[in-house]
Amino acid sequence: MAKYIGAHVSASGGVENAPLNAGAIGANAFALFTKNQRQWVSAPLTAKSIKQFKENCEKMGILPQHILPHDSYLINLGHPEEEGLAKSRAAFLDEMQRCEQLGLSLLNFHPGSHLNKISEEECLSRIAESINIVLEKTQGVTAVIENTAGQGSNMGFKFEHLAYIIERVNDKSRVGVCIDTCHSYSAGYDILNADNYETVFQDFDRIVGLQYLKGIHLNDTKKALGSRVDRHESVGKGLLDLTFFERFMNDPRFDNMPIVLETPDESLWAEEIALLRSMVK
Ligand SMILES: [Zn+2]
Ligand SMILES: [Zn+2]
Repeated sequence: MAKYIGAHVSASGGVENAPLNAGAIGANAFALFTKNQRQWVSAPLTAKSIKQFKENCEKMGILPQHILPHDSYLINLGHPEEEGLAKSRAAFLDEMQRCEQLGLSLLNFHPGSHLNKISEEECLSRIAESINIVLEKTQGVTAVIENTAGQGSNMGFKFEHLAYIIERVNDKSRVGVCIDTCHSYSAGYDILNADNYETVFQDFDRIVGLQYLKGIHLNDTKKALGSRVDRHESVGKGLLDLTFFERFMNDPRFDNMPIVLETPDESLWAEEIALLRSMVK
């Protein structure tokens, strides 16, 4: 099987539960938070928890390269103010180190927000600098920038933003991109229309480069093309109809990378995964 699909599963009770939760919905990929996503500081991972996480991944047959941890929502690597920036960089370093400990190779994050206090370019440059600082202090984990819907002052809603950051990262072997399909559509990339779908991913390849694509957040969307509002919807229940998902599932550009559902109704995840798999011709 070339497609690795799962969901952003719960790690409540310990990270070691995430692979079990993934296995229970028939996933062969997953995302998780390695700490409480709404707190700045969490207790370090215990040796027991790390060992069990690795054992459970193996038991479920899920490989580290198909696991896409997501960082805390509090982190803003392009923060306009020194204090917020320093706090974000320290927290991001902790997140990268947790991935190292768990033997994981990817960490997905939202690039950052200028909060209307600095220019877009200044914000993007700060994000690149933040990535450089953290990559220098870690090993083996790739920083995976997620494209955003462009809500508020969030950067990363244009492929050019992602390219601008990557251009300024020193170690290009450890920077990557995750495409969120809901965010892409809300940001104005018309992946629904068959012709435009092709144009969007060709543009992505030309502007960013498909070699940087490390993962996908496969979500339907509640909000209109170009609305710049981030509201995920379950597969086939939003504006991206099933023809989009069928086209996506048969597109080899998305083989061999984690494809993660962040759809709102987790009771549907097993069904959504089965449906997506059934679309592969
Ligand atoms: Zn995200
Ligand atoms: Zn996402």
